[in-house]
Amino acid sequence: MHNFNAGPAALPLEVLEQAQGELLDFRGSGMSILEMSHRSKTFEAVMAETEADLRELLGVGAEYKVLFLQGGASLQFGMLPMNLRRTGQSADYIVNGTWGTAAVKDARKLGKVRVAGSSESTNFDRVPETIELDPGAAYLHYTSNETIHGVEWWSEPEPPAGVPLICDMSSDFLSWPVEISKYGLIYAGAQKNAGPAGVTVVILREDLLERVPGGLPVMLDYKVQVAGGSMHNTPPCFAIYMVGLVLKWLKGVGGLEVIASRNQHKAELIYRVIDESGGFYRGHAQQGSRSWMNVTLRLPNEDLEEQFVKQAEGEGMVGLKGHRSVGGLRASLYNAVPLESVQTLAQFMAEFQRRNG
Ligand code: PMP
Repeated sequence: MHNFNAGPAALPLEVLEQAQGELLDFRGSGMSILEMSHRSKTFEAVMAETEADLRELLGVGAEYKVLFLQGGASLQFGMLPMNLRRTGQSADYIVNGTWGTAAVKDARKLGKVRVAGSSESTNFDRVPETIELDPGAAYLHYTSNETIHGVEWWSEPEPPAGVPLICDMSSDFLSWPVEISKYGLIYAGAQKNAGPAGVTVVILREDLLERVPGGLPVMLDYKVQVAGGSMHNTPPCFAIYMVGLVLKWLKGVGGLEVIASRNQHKAELIYRVIDESGGFYRGHAQQGSRSWMNVTLRLPNEDLEEQFVKQAEGEGMVGLKGHRSVGGLRASLYNAVPLESVQTLAQFMAEFQRRNG
């Protein structure tokens, strides 16, 4: 199948084959990685390699800690303000879609939030044009790629001096190079570019741990997670192992510069069909905010949208139905989606317009 799912999403075939090949006897241990202690030397080596490969690929310096947590990116919506916002302090959020909205909602339950910029009035079709930042904010939070609206930041917002930049990078993590030193904390659910569902990567600058208040439930405390090396309790071993395989695959491909240029090429193929369709296809995201990961578009009516999804499925293309809040179609073009799948979709789009335009 040509897999355009938004997440969980396509994984590299080589990675799946490797996991299959070593499922029954992991590295000569005589057992599956699914069956062994997370405290074993064998699993500890998997954990260490995974962290080292992530650091190498993204250029994560020693002043940052890397965590592999559970609870999804959604748990970070609450964990983040609990740990990094001091009592009475306000945090700034820039909102350009559903996930940023969800992050604000949880942060508000626990303390003060300011929306520093929002594109809600245009149904989140772009990154906000006007942003007013609070120099006293605990941090500035934004969502680098809004998965549902298909809106992506092409360069990060700049926080006032001394205000750490925090990013929900779930759906464009590892899709292009990022300057880690600009961030206080990055989090990303793995199930788009980094691996299967079940593990969330958190990269945080160590000095921020000073802010963590006492008395937090242990699993929600970054300090506890750092001290335990993400193994305060049983970690999601298999998901972490799969992330490790994906990272090795990415290194083999040539790293983030190479994958970024592939991703750009794939996205441009679809946007070109939209732009040359004379209005038959209408992109949701405005120029300058278009996502390379999730292309969102509408057709002239819902009837045609339904037909498109059905016929595409008949030709082996799945996952193209848009999220109900935007409607239309969404093609997710993550790292592991092959160029050939995207070419097939672009051709199908042109053909569909010829038949129905
Ligand atoms: N943030 C973004 C940008 C997402 O795309 C998603 C999931 N699609 C989430 C947060 C929530 O992630 P999870 O399901 O891992 O909690």
